[in-house]
Amino acid sequence: MPTPETFAARVLEWFDQHGRKDLPWQRDTTPYRVWVSEIMLQQTQVKTVIPYFERFMAALPQVQALAEAPEDKVLHLWAGLGYYARARNLHRSAQRVAHELDGQFPTTLAGLCDLPGIGRSTAGAILSIALGQRASILDGNVKRVLARYHRVEGWPGRSAVHQSLWDIAEQYTPAERCADYSQAMMDLGATLCTRSAPACEDCPVRRDCEARLYGDQTQYPGKKPKKSLPVKTTCFLIARNRSGDVWLEKRPGRGIWGGLWCFPEIDQPDDHTTRTLGLWGLAAENIETGEPFRHTFSHYHLDITPVFIELGKDPDAVMEATGQLWYNLQRPPQVGLAAPVAELLSKLGSINRPLTSDAE
Ligand code: SF4
Repeated sequence: MPTPETFAARVLEWFDQHGRKDLPWQRDTTPYRVWVSEIMLQQTQVKTVIPYFERFMAALPQVQALAEAPEDKVLHLWAGLGYYARARNLHRSAQRVAHELDGQFPTTLAGLCDLPGIGRSTAGAILSIALGQRASILDGNVKRVLARYHRVEGWPGRSAVHQSLWDIAEQYTPAERCADYSQAMMDLGATLCTRSAPACEDCPVRRDCEARLYGDQTQYPGKKPKKSLPVKTTCFLIARNRSGDVWLEKRPGRGIWGGLWCFPEIDQPDDHTTRTLGLWGLAAENIETGEPFRHTFSHYHLDITPVFIELGKDPDAVMEATGQLWYNLQRPPQVGLAAPVAELLSKLGSINRPLTSDAE
């Protein structure tokens, strides 16, 4: 087994030849840019993140701009990346940095971890990549490399396994070139030590990698114990006025699709539909129930029944209040939409005709 210094030296030598050095967040490196990129990269691949990152930076180039942006704008820039709690936490953290910390990012692990949505690994990436400090990272890619290298048994979601991986990560982090080392470890996991087909023959630490020696690389890291997901149901009320605009409501900040715009929901179609419309002062000319479809979250399936409603008369303009809007399909407003809502709206926009069940 090599010493920690040898491990880091091999990884850095590989990085000098093969590492990624032209990613957008590797230019004009600041804590803000590294932080936004790290949050976007959680559960998302680099090639998906790049256009989102560039749009986000063009719209909100500094932490102050993010702090002052309306939440709808932030969620709109995030739309499609998923895991919207990340965007809401980013926004809240920017407000803390701008208003309570004088626009300066904390420069310690504890200070960074105190901000919403920043965990130990993200803090380590900001400290090492943006500030050149010796700090370790342990994102999904690094976990995979280290779990294989040492054949660390068990699912990293278990705290004992997680702690073992952190101990190894800390041990191997070099005192010098910490920024390059962090980037190198992420690159190694993303490009060589991939989930199902690791390219061990090109790997700089192959000689001592225990999983490679045993030939059981894909057994590591251990899988999360499986349990079947529960199924919940809901109905989307998709109401269109005579101009073809669609009624949306902003969801509360917490819970699924927090802060995003969504169709109003009811538990069951039939009489509830009429009753709900009545509460808005609306009357339906035609109501049709569409085919249910499934949206899956990490912890449950949601079976959604769309209910298509054509309104008999246009509602009063005064109806549109805070948290409610008539969504114009031809000139879509810049608001964050829940994924199945965005999909349904885009289908409605492209067919652009009166609602029927096959619009689903
Ligand atoms: S030798 Fe293979 S399994 Fe081991 S760290 Fe390198 S790529 Fe991963």
